[in-house]
Amino acid sequence: MPSSPSEPPPFPGAGDDDTASSSSTPVKVPAKRMPPPLPNLQGAAAEVRSLERHVCPECGGKGEWDPGKKELVCPYCGNRFERVGPPPPSTAIEEHDLDEMLAKLGIKGSTVDTGTRRVQCTNCHAVLVRSAETMAQHCDFCGSPELLDYTEVGSPIQPESVLPAGISKETAYHSLKDFLSARWFAPNDLKKRNMIDRINRVYLPYWTFDSNAECQWSADSGEYYYVDVDDTDAQGRRTTRREQRIRWTPVSGHVSTWFDDILVSGSQGLDVELLKKIEPFPTKDLVPYDTRYVSGWQVEHYQVPLLQAAQMGFGTMEALLREMCGREVPGDTYRNLRIDPEYSNKTFKHILAPIWLLAYQYRNKTWQGAVNAVTGNTHARFPLSPWKIAMVTVLSLIVLFVILHALGSR
Ligand SMILES: [Zn+2]
Ligand SMILES: [Zn+2]
Repeated sequence: MPSSPSEPPPFPGAGDDDTASSSSTPVKVPAKRMPPPLPNLQGAAAEVRSLERHVCPECGGKGEWDPGKKELVCPYCGNRFERVGPPPPSTAIEEHDLDEMLAKLGIKGSTVDTGTRRVQCTNCHAVLVRSAETMAQHCDFCGSPELLDYTEVGSPIQPESVLPAGISKETAYHSLKDFLSARWFAPNDLKKRNMIDRINRVYLPYWTFDSNAECQWSADSGEYYYVDVDDTDAQGRRTTRREQRIRWTPVSGHVSTWFDDILVSGSQGLDVELLKKIEPFPTKDLVPYDTRYVSGWQVEHYQVPLLQAAQMGFGTMEALLREMCGREVPGDTYRNLRIDPEYSNKTFKHILAPIWLLAYQYRNKTWQGAVNAVTGNTHARFPLSPWKIAMVTVLSLIVLFVILHALGSR
């Protein structure tokens, strides 16, 4: 087909009669598959590549940890497989000395990385911008689960142990549905709604703290006694009545105890009260961190740094000690309880714990539900049906009216 002279040739060299270039055959560079260079973005975005792990031996898709099957399952071909490649170094789950680590970390112990990262998908090579909150997420382009390496991200503290998820998505879904169905005040259309695509699998970062505690306490112990008090009634007659008095005696004592695995969430942005409802996580079931267990799951990076978490953890211990000392005070009541705890052998661990997270919309408002993916504990926030509230209000008014009427007609 002859091209019109006004049109440019489809590619350089085509159309012109350049015999000099066509006479010598150009050297062909062998094709090589390589990732495109990372775009040169401005700012503090760190460049990291995701871990290339757990590739399906059948189709090359990335395996995801299936809590029901307790195996890696390929989301593309359904193949179930064991770990590919060498197992991670088997390290015993260790508690770390808290003061030593805080001294070593310095400023890093009280700050978290908030910068974004550019992550290159190892499957389709797309470059994704990720916030510092997640260590793993599915690629926006090919859906492949991409997990970052903690060492590459430069996390000062990495999880050394993980609680493998054992509750499947179906079980979690039914548990959430049952929970909502049992809430009488929840709207009926919500109970009937299919929300399975609204459930996400997430590994949450947690800190656990251990410590010995020696606690000296002092208080005023109160004992009740009764006295007869003379009085006069309205008619001016003399009467006596019994009155309760308290005799205060200063007392002191000592409580000695051991705290094991006090949990502090390292996550932010999740409803803390909701999390409390599905805790605890059985820390006795922890296994050494292995990327196999978190493959395909969203993994959050801690947003509460070690120092802040430790303050929260020891705050919890102090509240527990106060309760324990309060129980030690003899007598009927007490006041001015002062405690002076001394902690020793303070240790910590950083762990990952799995949940199924439900986020749904109801009348333009977002609600959350969660299932502990180890124990199955379930809790959800839900809207109240205005109709049901109105109905209960009307019914209680009727009951009140009937009672008042019955009393009035006596
Ligand atoms: Zn496959
Ligand atoms: Zn991709």
